[in-house]
Amino acid sequence: MMIPKIELERAAEVLRGGGLVGFPTETVYGLGANALDPVAVGKIYAAKGRPATSPLIVHVAGVAMARTVVAEWPEAAERLAAAFWPGPLTLVLEKRDLVPDSVTAGLRTVGVRHPAHPVAAELIRLAGVPVAAPSANKFMGLSPTRAEHVRAGLGEAVDMVLDGGACAVGIESTVLSLVGGRAVLLRPGMVSRAEIEAVIGTVEVLGEVAEGEAHAAPGMHARHYAPETRLRVGEPGRASGYLWHTRECEAEMAVRLPAEAGGYAAGLYEALHLLDAAGLEEIVVEAVPEGGGWDGVRDRLVRAGNMAQ
Ligand code: AMP
Ligand code: MG
Repeated sequence: MMIPKIELERAAEVLRGGGLVGFPTETVYGLGANALDPVAVGKIYAAKGRPATSPLIVHVAGVAMARTVVAEWPEAAERLAAAFWPGPLTLVLEKRDLVPDSVTAGLRTVGVRHPAHPVAAELIRLAGVPVAAPSANKFMGLSPTRAEHVRAGLGEAVDMVLDGGACAVGIESTVLSLVGGRAVLLRPGMVSRAEIEAVIGTVEVLGEVAEGEAHAAPGMHARHYAPETRLRVGEPGRASGYLWHTRECEAEMAVRLPAEAGGYAAGLYEALHLLDAAGLEEIVVEAVPEGGGWDGVRDRLVRAGNMAQ
């Protein structure tokens, strides 16, 4: 969806002035603020109700801007950026001092990503500053994949929302740490472990990291990406809400997604937003395949199904 240049320039102005802009990326809609302005970044946490312990991803307009916020740019980062940027891969690296602690939840590292969505890329380029942006929704809730989701969820807390239509990838980026010369997958996404390994060799997976050298995993909350309605993955039984891709069944409301990982991810949050808005007793999701291409989807479904503590 095209957005007039004048609107993009106004949004860039809002960012430079310390305000919040909701904008489309290819993964989900982001809630952006100037990453170098601690007051602006504080507004993100306030609008989302996000705990200060959850670090933000810094969005950049390319490798050159990424290098202004990180203290190191190893060979692996160079190769991965060449292979997957712009795109849905976040690289975690040691940060420079100019990145405020509030962006990184006090960590010495920062997550950086060059988004592929033309609106996101142009907005960051026009703003001329790196843009800290988590998903544009209340903490723990469903991520927005349409501008209407952002307005419905955050309302007046956002100064401006850019409408770029539906997000093409549909789930949050893959997060990979390159800190200390190791490659550790912190969050699966649509750039798969196998695709990353094809570029840089062996990737460890958080959770599979050997005992005693456990990596800190900030922001990896067990319940996350979740609808208000109770959700479980499994046998439908007599489901009130049913999200399926291969096996149809009787349900008050059934939504079908493509049986292929890319199409499924692209439609997942929209389907959950629809089912969640229907006031059903429960949402049952048909289990998805075990294959590596489904890792990101499976991760989100598991977290969506975990009940609040
Ligand atoms: P969200 O913006 O909600 O997609 O979440 C961003 C996620 O990226 C966080 O929840 C963390 O899991 C991860 N992340 C961001 N920055 C860092 C970092 N410096 N170290 C480790 N993980 C990070
Ligand atoms: Mg989020």
